[in-house]
Amino acid sequence: MKPKADYIGRFAPSPSGPLHFGSLIAALASFLDARANHGQWLLRMEDLDPGREPPQAAGQILEALEAFGLHWDGPVLYQSSRLAAYRDALHQLQQQGLIYACDCTRQQIQAFGGVYDNRCRNRKDVPQDCALRVRVADRTIQFVDAIQGSTQQHLLRECGDFVLLRKDGLFAYQLAVVVDDAFQNISWVVRGSDLLDSTPRQIFLQQCLGLATPHYAHFPVAVNEDKQKLSKQHFAAPLDHTTPLPALLRALSFLGQPMSEALAEGDIASVLQWAIAHWDIQAVPKLANIRLASID
Ligand code: GLU
Repeated sequence: MKPKADYIGRFAPSPSGPLHFGSLIAALASFLDARANHGQWLLRMEDLDPGREPPQAAGQILEALEAFGLHWDGPVLYQSSRLAAYRDALHQLQQQGLIYACDCTRQQIQAFGGVYDNRCRNRKDVPQDCALRVRVADRTIQFVDAIQGSTQQHLLRECGDFVLLRKDGLFAYQLAVVVDDAFQNISWVVRGSDLLDSTPRQIFLQQCLGLATPHYAHFPVAVNEDKQKLSKQHFAAPLDHTTPLPALLRALSFLGQPMSEALAEGDIASVLQWAIAHWDIQAVPKLANIRLASID
């Protein structure tokens, strides 16, 4: 396939722990797709939740990426340095009358099936200790995912109004990711399918803020024996940087990429070179079932 012009991709880890196998796959898939398209590959540290981020984790992620030969372009963007931009975006939405305060608890929302029923939309009083939500439109958001195909979600029915500023005063992922993908001119978002159901919300925010919508490709996420996504919360083991080759080969195989026995004899740089030359996004396995549900 022809390389895509003006390709800018990114890897955007949350530094809640060291790189593990699941996040290596995310880094590798986004890196290979960018490099195979002669694009840039940017790195963004999504460090907006200090309570969940051990101070050494961001540095450990950078070291691990270096050890795996995944060299990024330009300086790392830290979301903790971008609060003024998120405030501006929230303000723009406020001026459009799209933002309201809500003090519903997680338990209350679970009790009505996990989809927020927008009950605080028309409240006259302004609650204390509240989150700020955006009013979603009563329409279907549709996009074509480069791996999963055509995907759609009716935000009002399947998601409900969602949080942009949390009760604890922290900006929500959905707002920050949209503001920063635009700020960094990201044209391709390649990430795990656990974020597939966030994409319609992100496209909706891009439309409200007058921002371009990038292309999306969601690869399946690695799960453990209990079918839980490998994540720091689920104690996925950190990767061994001293012998990175086996994990790199496992990640390539997970992504359905062509393999060759000779790769096991190679070094990181030669394996990556081979993987860039042979990268085939169509070979990445699709999900068996796409479940679109709401998560804040
Ligand atoms: N920071 C998110 C995570 O580590 C990824 C965000 C994204 O790729 O949009 O799960």
